[in-house]
Amino acid sequence: MEREDQRMNAFIELLKLIFGIRTPKTESHHTPTRGDSPVIPVVPHESPSGISAQEWEIGLAIVDLEARRDSNGHLSVYRLPSNDGGGSEEIAGINSKYHPEELAKLKTMAPPLREEAAARYIENYTRRMTGLSESSNLRKGTELFVLDTTFNRGGGGSAWVVQTALRSLGFSVIRDRLWGPLTRKALIEADRKFDRQIIDRLRSARESYERNVIGYRANLWRGLVNRWDHVRDLSLKWNELESPAKASLPSPGSGSEPSRIVLPREGTNSLNEFYGTASPTGNYLEWFSFPVANVRLYSRRGASLSDRTGNGLDDHRCHSKVRNQLEAALSAVYQALGKGQFEKEGWHIYGGCFNYRKKRGGSSLSTHSWGIAIDINPEENPFHGTDTTFSGKAIDIMEEHGFLSGGRAWGKDWMHFQAAIPHVTSGSYYASHGLPANVQSASLAS
Ligand SMILES: [Zn+2]
Repeated sequence: MEREDQRMNAFIELLKLIFGIRTPKTESHHTPTRGDSPVIPVVPHESPSGISAQEWEIGLAIVDLEARRDSNGHLSVYRLPSNDGGGSEEIAGINSKYHPEELAKLKTMAPPLREEAAARYIENYTRRMTGLSESSNLRKGTELFVLDTTFNRGGGGSAWVVQTALRSLGFSVIRDRLWGPLTRKALIEADRKFDRQIIDRLRSARESYERNVIGYRANLWRGLVNRWDHVRDLSLKWNELESPAKASLPSPGSGSEPSRIVLPREGTNSLNEFYGTASPTGNYLEWFSFPVANVRLYSRRGASLSDRTGNGLDDHRCHSKVRNQLEAALSAVYQALGKGQFEKEGWHIYGGCFNYRKKRGGSSLSTHSWGIAIDINPEENPFHGTDTTFSGKAIDIMEEHGFLSGGRAWGKDWMHFQAAIPHVTSGSYYASHGLPANVQSASLAS
C-alpha cells in the first residue's frame, strides 16, 4: 500500500514537471463566466496511446479554453453561475448536467491526472456527435472550431452553427440541426475554398445561435464573446500555419483592381427598392463580426449615436445584402493597417449599425434603418466634426468594398460609412474628386 502511494506520488511529480511549463490560470472571483482569461498557447507533449497527434492537440486546446486552474496550474472544480445551463459545477467545461459520470470520475482523480482524461473525453465526445473523423481532412483550426462548438452546444447546436455558416457562404444545406453526410461534405468543401472566411462565418453563426436559440444572458455575454474570439483566433492561427501560401494572398486593399460595386442612391424610395422596405424589426438583418478580438463598444453618455433609439451597441447586425462586404471591408482595413495602426485610428471602436430612425435633424429615414451604414470610432470622429482619425488608405479600402464615407460626402460625420450613394455637399472631397471609380449607381445599371 505504502509503496503504491510512493509510486503514485512519483508519477504525479513527473506530470507536474510535464505540465508545469504552462502558466497557471487561477480562479477568477470577479467574473463568473467562462472564457474571460487569455488563451495560453497549447504546448502539447507527445500524444498518449490511442489518440492521434491532431486529436490530442484539439482535445488539449478545448480543455485549455474551458479551464479554470488552481495555483499549481491543475484543473479545478468550478461552481457555475445559476443560469449557466450546465448544472452546478464543472471541470474544464465537463459539467454536472450533461456529463455527470465523467465529472464524477474526474473529481476522484488527482488534479494532475485530470488534464489528459478531460482532453480524451472531450475529443471522443465531440467526434461521436459530429461523425467527423480524422480522414475527413479538415484543417486543424477548422476542426478545432467545430468540435469546440459541439462541446459547448451539443451536436444539434453545432450542426445549426455549421449549417448557418455554410448557407451564408452559398451552400444549399438544410438547417435541420443534424450532422449528416451532406453537412460534413459541404463543410469540407467550404474549408478548402474559403480560407479565413469559413472561421469568421462559424464565429458569427455561433453568436447568432446564442442570441436566437439560447437567448441573450447579460451576465454571461462578455465571457462568451471572449471565449468565441479566443477559439476563433486560435483556429485562424492554426489554419494559417497549415496554409502559408493562402494566408499571404494580397487583400483587396493592397493593389489588386477593386471590383465594380452597384449601389442605390440615398433616399427612402430608392433604398426600399434596392434593399427591401425598412422596418423597425429589421427582418433583413444578419449578424456580422469584426475581424479583431478587442472590439470596443462606444458608450460615451449623452453622445449622439446611431443606437440612440435603443438597439444596443452589442447588436452587430447589418443588412444581409451587405454583410459579406462589411466583414471583408473591416478585414481588409485590418490587414492593410496592421493591429497597431488599426487601433490608433480607432477602427475597433464600434458606434452602431442597424437603427430604425430618422436622420438627425431630418424627416427622412437614416441609412442606418436598413442596416447598411456603420459608425466607427464616433468618439474621435463625431457627428458634425470636420476632422478624422482615419487614414485615406483605410477610407479607400472601405470604398472599394462599397462603403462610402460620410466625411468625404459632407465634410463632416467621418464616423459614418454607408452602402448607398450619398448626396454630395459642395466643397466636399467627393465634390472635388468624384465618387470612387468602382462604384456605380443602381439606377444607371442595366
Ligand atoms: Zn452613421
